[in-house]
Amino acid sequence: VTIDHSRTLRLASNAGSQAGSQLLDRLDRTHVLVTADPDQPGVSAALRVLVADLRRLPIQLHLDPRRGSRPLTADQLDQLAALAAGIDRDRPLHLGPAPHADLHLHLGTSPASATVSAVPDGHGTRLRRAGHPFPRLGAPGSGLGAVSTAAMLTAEAFKTIIGVIPDRRRLVQALDFDPVTLTTPATAAACLPILDHVALIGAGAIGTAIALILRELGAKGSLLVIDPEAFDAPNVTTYSLGTQNDADQQIPKVLLIQSALPGLHVHPIRGSAQDLIEAVDQHRLCMPTTVLGAVDSVDARHQIAALHADCTLDGSTGGSTGTTLSLAEALPPGPCLRCYYPAVPTTGRSTEQLIVEATGLTLDRLARGDQPLTVDEIEQLPPDVQSRLAEHVGKPVCGLGRALGLTGRTDDYQPSAAFVAQQAAALVVGALIRRHDAAPGPRALDVEYDAMFGPHPTMIQTRRPRGTCRCQTDRELINVVRDHRSGPADGTLRALPPIS
Ligand SMILES: [Zn+2]
Repeated sequence: VTIDHSRTLRLASNAGSQAGSQLLDRLDRTHVLVTADPDQPGVSAALRVLVADLRRLPIQLHLDPRRGSRPLTADQLDQLAALAAGIDRDRPLHLGPAPHADLHLHLGTSPASATVSAVPDGHGTRLRRAGHPFPRLGAPGSGLGAVSTAAMLTAEAFKTIIGVIPDRRRLVQALDFDPVTLTTPATAAACLPILDHVALIGAGAIGTAIALILRELGAKGSLLVIDPEAFDAPNVTTYSLGTQNDADQQIPKVLLIQSALPGLHVHPIRGSAQDLIEAVDQHRLCMPTTVLGAVDSVDARHQIAALHADCTLDGSTGGSTGTTLSLAEALPPGPCLRCYYPAVPTTGRSTEQLIVEATGLTLDRLARGDQPLTVDEIEQLPPDVQSRLAEHVGKPVCGLGRALGLTGRTDDYQPSAAFVAQQAAALVVGALIRRHDAAPGPRALDVEYDAMFGPHPTMIQTRRPRGTCRCQTDRELINVVRDHRSGPADGTLRALPPIS
């Protein structure tokens, strides 16, 4: 089986200006050089992820082991070459000086002639284009910082080599971002808790990226992993784990994750969230308290909502180009995942009309979506609307529909890339650490940005439940269900054969 780049090319031609076949031809002649400072904490881990992410693109990939703060060891080079060959047998990783490079990426802060450099700082990333110096780093790079850094550096490479059209991307000059704090990297990185009663639902692009981050963080404890499918050829270029050999053997995705996480007690279940609910209802399995959601449809999110876990951290990718990514935090008694992803409305009214009805802003005003909402504007509106809109002053009005819970996110399946899914996964694992570390209480955060633009301060919103959602209208029933499910389990699911 030869490598299938169709999804990456579709993503790229959505974002760029060239059609798939021309683009493949051009990428095949594009030379990307990678160098690294392996003695900086987290850089070796970031290098593994970066080489794999870049090898998922149909480019000529060069690694010069002697251009960093110290040479890479022979062992490291063997590992990296094997990693790249597992993903693409036909395009080897070229080791040594590149005769010509269209783009030079560097991991580390040592002065290099790189186009873009980046380094993990704690759980976060500091990224600089040539000519922008690095600040002093706060904390040793963690596994989460390593994966985030590689994913963000790959995003910069993608924008540059694909030729993403200028109004669909922003070339980052300097970026400081931590998926735990959602701002600049913290000076001390909080620890990942020991995983207990945690379920990962979905072992696809985001699920494998979550597993990769957990592995690089050295996660301890136990993890339930649920997914019905087998790993297939097109997954090799979009998932964060798995090789062409794994695809040839069609191994179950849950087993792919289990074998990637030897440090965790992984309990794999081939099935859906619905199968998990049945097992919990029959007390064959303990109710998970934390759910990491990594599914790719609204229906699957509604199944997860019906589990009524204490905390659901849902990652997604999508949008019109497949490069938008988000985190939705769902907490009883609301918002639930249905609040974020309501069933398709049957009103026949557009999102803009719903916003006009809910706020009194005009359609004309909404058309200027990128202009921020001002204090003067909301003072013209009724008092109850003023109080609802107060927190949105200064933010672009195009985000209001989502902020007010009037729109679901789009469910059109869009091909994504591993580096986009990894940024969504970083927000999910970041939330797991943040919620454990700081006891953030009942505030549910809704975070969304486009990987072609990078994270920005207005991407974070506090989400409230929708009044008409089941999590509000059926609160008493949901409490009864949650009580029933929190009872002890007999653990017989330990012996349950894989479903289907
Ligand atoms: Zn709800």
